Amino acid sequence: MHVLILGGTAEARSLAESLAAGTHPGLRVTSSLAGRVSTPRLPPGEVRVGGFGGAEGLARWLSEHAVDAVVDATHPFAGTISSNAASAAAITGVPLLALRRPGWTPVAGDVWHATGSLEEAAGLLPALGRRVFLTTGRLGLAAFAALDDLWFLVRSVDAPQAPAPARMEVLLDRGPFTLRGERELLRRHAVDVVVTKDSGGEATAPKLTAAREAGLPVVVIRRPPVPSGVPVVPGPEAAAAWLDERLHRGAFPDPGGP
Ligand code: NAP
Repeated sequence: MHVLILGGTAEARSLAESLAAGTHPGLRVTSSLAGRVSTPRLPPGEVRVGGFGGAEGLARWLSEHAVDAVVDATHPFAGTISSNAASAAAITGVPLLALRRPGWTPVAGDVWHATGSLEEAAGLLPALGRRVFLTTGRLGLAAFAALDDLWFLVRSVDAPQAPAPARMEVLLDRGPFTLRGERELLRRHAVDVVVTKDSGGEATAPKLTAAREAGLPVVVIRRPPVPSGVPVVPGPEAAAAWLDERLHRGAFPDPGGP
């Protein structure tokens, strides 16, 4: 049995770890990373890095490597690879599951402005503040590049490249982040508005609490939808259970069978 995990998230690593822990004997697990991060946290087991060459390239890869199931555990905002995975599954007939950590929901005291895109978020900012904590990643900074009157604190794993805002300080870091650290960051930089994707999960949620405590508005970019027809689970345990169920149901071809 060969499972391909499309990764780049903590959940993908956690699934690879649990499958590698010996709970699924005979299961071959390959994790795939896009190669965006210079020093990625690697999951156990086989790892391949780099794009497949679109949906057809991925379909070819699945066939050539005799993949029996795909778990799309990519980031909720990695919409292209998720759409490619759905197309490749349709082309090859290989079962596909999407692992998506649940999104965040506002609680009392939150001042959230939901938007559909980075561009829409940029359009809202001048009315909300002057000193922006921008946590949407180093790719996509172009959407904010024309906002010359605003100052940006950009936090990203690797250094951003142009086009980017003219008035910007870069903080190279990656989660998990603490509430204490986030409070201090907002205070030290006199941030008055925060921008985030609705990434969900605990690792980067403390900024939302810190913003709520400080009474700051947060611009939250909504997720793209999971491709229609693809079953979705919220975490690695449920993904492992889906694989178990298929293994026990004999939904994968039996390599020793006729
Ligand atoms: P994307 O826009 O959906 O994908 C762009 C292209 O990158 C895909 O068409 C594919 O190239 C390649 N690709 C993406 N994920 C891949 C994977 N796991 N393995 C092999 N190729 C992959 O993706 P993205 O938003 O740039 O994200 C790239 C990676 O970073 C993903 O693995 C994601 O989980 C992770 N990540 C993304 C974000 C985010 O905010 N977007 C945040 C944290 C982590 P081909 O068409 O050539 O196959």
